[in-house]
Amino acid sequence: MDMRNYPAEPFRIKSVEVVKMINREEREEVLEKAGYNTFLIDSEDCYIDLLTDSGTNAMSDDQWAGLMKGDEAYAGSKNFKHLEKTVEDVFGFPYLIPTHQGRGAENILSRIAIKPGQYVPGNMYFTTTRYHQETNGGIFVDIIRDEAHDATLDIPFKGDIDLNKLENLINEKGAENIAYVCLAVTVNLAGGQPVSMANMKAVRELTEKHGIKVFYDCTRFAENAYFIKEQEEGYADKTIAEIVKEMFSYADGATMSGKKDGIVNMGGFLALRDEEMFSEARELVVVYEGMPSYGGMTGRDMEAFAIGLKESLQFEYIQHRVLQVRYLGERLKEAGVPIVEPIGGHAVFLDARRFCPHLDQEEFPAQALAANLYLESGVRSMERGIISAGRDVNTGENHKPKLETVRLTIPRRVYTYRHMDLVADSVIKLYEHKEDIKGLKFVYEPKQLRFFTARFEEI
Ligand SMILES: *Cc1c(COP(=O)(O)O)cnc(C)c1O
Repeated sequence: MDMRNYPAEPFRIKSVEVVKMINREEREEVLEKAGYNTFLIDSEDCYIDLLTDSGTNAMSDDQWAGLMKGDEAYAGSKNFKHLEKTVEDVFGFPYLIPTHQGRGAENILSRIAIKPGQYVPGNMYFTTTRYHQETNGGIFVDIIRDEAHDATLDIPFKGDIDLNKLENLINEKGAENIAYVCLAVTVNLAGGQPVSMANMKAVRELTEKHGIKVFYDCTRFAENAYFIKEQEEGYADKTIAEIVKEMFSYADGATMSGKKDGIVNMGGFLALRDEEMFSEARELVVVYEGMPSYGGMTGRDMEAFAIGLKESLQFEYIQHRVLQVRYLGERLKEAGVPIVEPIGGHAVFLDARRFCPHLDQEEFPAQALAANLYLESGVRSMERGIISAGRDVNTGENHKPKLETVRLTIPRRVYTYRHMDLVADSVIKLYEHKEDIKGLKFVYEPKQLRFFTARFEEI
């Protein structure tokens, strides 16, 4: 590994949070109490917390200063105006519905854009997104390219939509039976894989012909833009801001979780191009989120969010962000640990099928691996496999995703390269005695989004 390929942190540390590492016996106790579910472990008991990059970001001094400018008026807050203008500047959408976080926006979009029985094609699913689509009578169809389901294939833009799958679906079901196309940048569950500009453009051309709308899940838009700049022909000399603007010129709107590339701890929005849809969304936001000028966020939240959106476009920031993740992945690869390739934008995904070949998928290898990594070193990660995929709403059978992974998700601007080394060393050590990892079985299985609160015991 040549550290010269990895830029040092483009920030100074102004405030620190002290963490402690509890010993192995204590970790065993914690894990048992948490039912082997890393979601149920207390933050205090984690040494390095890679559960998620959602809302775990470190804000800049500008953002903290922005909190002091919170205008907490019930209606017409100036921070809303700032956020609205920023979203239009960055993405080009004139209409903004603020929401408490991404899923609030998904709820509203699904309610206004899906008629029961309509299909909602997407480039792989995301848990809360699919939940809202299905609850509103939509039928989710995965139209991501096949290669995305193969964890070993190292090719660029694995998040792309397979245009043939989309075209076949339109021909088979009829354009009127497609609610809209949901295009995520980047694709979280495929391993943080980006979508190419060429693909976004082609999806736009195809759907336009049939009068079908396209909504992006723009949660990690800046990371996606970085991959385009780095890897797609014709974009090396464009700024991240220019790339983002072009990406969203091919969309009718977007749902956003500000907790990711908004570099804040809470917030989200639904942004739209169509005035009629905007009126409908405004009627719903008051029911589910709050007034159309705050939607579940405080004024200060909206101010920090507006500032964070602009910061995410800074090249030095986003380059460090993506390359720090890559550094962790490359260290694991070098040691022969099986990971999803290529390394994505926000996380390194351990391939639990190859990590634990002695476990059947019904013994929840990824869940077991995440639990054992915590035992090994106090590093908290998350299962993204059969548990997250849930059960088929009609048959009640477990969805069995090809990708059975453990996600090591890197919070933005929080950890250093030395922390990445510690994580890599613990995963490598665990890999050396992987046969000791035992399978798990449910002792409690919730009906919806079971991964959050399920409990297990060792088989
Ligand atoms: C986090 C996330 C969401 C949901 O956003 P929340 O703010 O957690 O409600 C939607 N889509 C993707 C891809 C996400 O990563």
